[in-house]
Amino acid sequence: MKPIYLDHCSTTPIDPSVLDAMLPFLRESFGNPGTPHELVGGVVQRAVREAREAVAELINCRANELVWTSGATESNNLAILGLAESVPPAKRHVITQVTEHSSVLEPCRYLQERGWAVTYLPVDCFGQINVDELTEAINDATAIVSVMWGNNEIGTLQPVKEIAAVCAGRGVAFHCDAAQAGGKVPIDVEDVAVSMLTLSAHKFYGPKGVGALFIRDLTKKTPLSARVFGGGQEKGVRAGTLNVPCIVGMGAASSLASSNIDAWSRHTHHLRRHFEAALFERLKDISVNGSQHDRLPHISNIAFFDTENEGLLTMLHELVASTGSACHVADFAPSHVLEALSLSRPTVDCSLRFGFGKDNTTEEVALAADLTVAAVNRYRAEA
Ligand code: PMP
Repeated sequence: MKPIYLDHCSTTPIDPSVLDAMLPFLRESFGNPGTPHELVGGVVQRAVREAREAVAELINCRANELVWTSGATESNNLAILGLAESVPPAKRHVITQVTEHSSVLEPCRYLQERGWAVTYLPVDCFGQINVDELTEAINDATAIVSVMWGNNEIGTLQPVKEIAAVCAGRGVAFHCDAAQAGGKVPIDVEDVAVSMLTLSAHKFYGPKGVGALFIRDLTKKTPLSARVFGGGQEKGVRAGTLNVPCIVGMGAASSLASSNIDAWSRHTHHLRRHFEAALFERLKDISVNGSQHDRLPHISNIAFFDTENEGLLTMLHELVASTGSACHVADFAPSHVLEALSLSRPTVDCSLRFGFGKDNTTEEVALAADLTVAAVNRYRAEA
């Protein structure tokens, strides 16, 4: 039996229509966008332009405000380090928060090691930062604030609209990692005044290894220094021959998401509600980690007290869930996100993350709940 896939926060299966859109660019339309011949370079240039327009539509920006990258990790690094490189020495302060993804925290640590001041804002027990604390943390040296849209382990949404307003008012750049929110909840960069925003295609049914960074007013003199130097592609911000098949895939995935985002959001929210209700009805001593309300629709992180998550996962081989972020290679440290909620170590160690997707069915999720209940009961009986 194929396991029930409930790990859509780690990655999503590529949609068949996205793969179909990509295939011609791995076969006959293999050209380099830089090749001047219309039937070689022209064809792929047009495809890249259309993909850029599709991603722009997803977040309501202009197509020329997007830079292609290899994914959210690179977009986050480019945003933080690219801006850091370009600001004067008097502006060496960055503000972030403790439950960010490692691809935000590590560039911040890198800056800290090189003499930057870094403020790591704490979160409350739901995983949200306090906007007043952020406002107080901003000073004359602050160059950048980096706070995510929605968390990849617990789903908690940050008050991004207020954060954007504070940053705009103080003239500070606001970068937002929307890797987990993009294609899942509506994002409108006209409504939420971010300076930069990170997207990754494989989180919304596109291919792995491609992402984008929105940079407001990129066409005007951009303050961002390149991290990858070479042939000057992407307005000199990110050099290298474009990964055309994956870019086309990201465009197709963005169009699909733009048309279906409300339906997908309703569907995953419905699945999660039923899953959590089934567990809470039949199991004692469990709780949801993070915010129950301000939460991305597809994520559920649950503590099953008196169990241990690695052991539970081994018992649950019929389904794919996780103990936290899949982005750490061979890292068995407890989740820094759950620890930031001030949960006790036993609570962190008995928590599992479930991520629902557009193609999960109600029946699958009901079966997943049955399997989880049985595994928790067995674990507790054997303990
Ligand atoms: N940020 C967040 C919030 C994520 O969830 C992830 C992927 N887990 C990343 C960044 C890194 O994304 P990518 O795999 O595209 O590098």
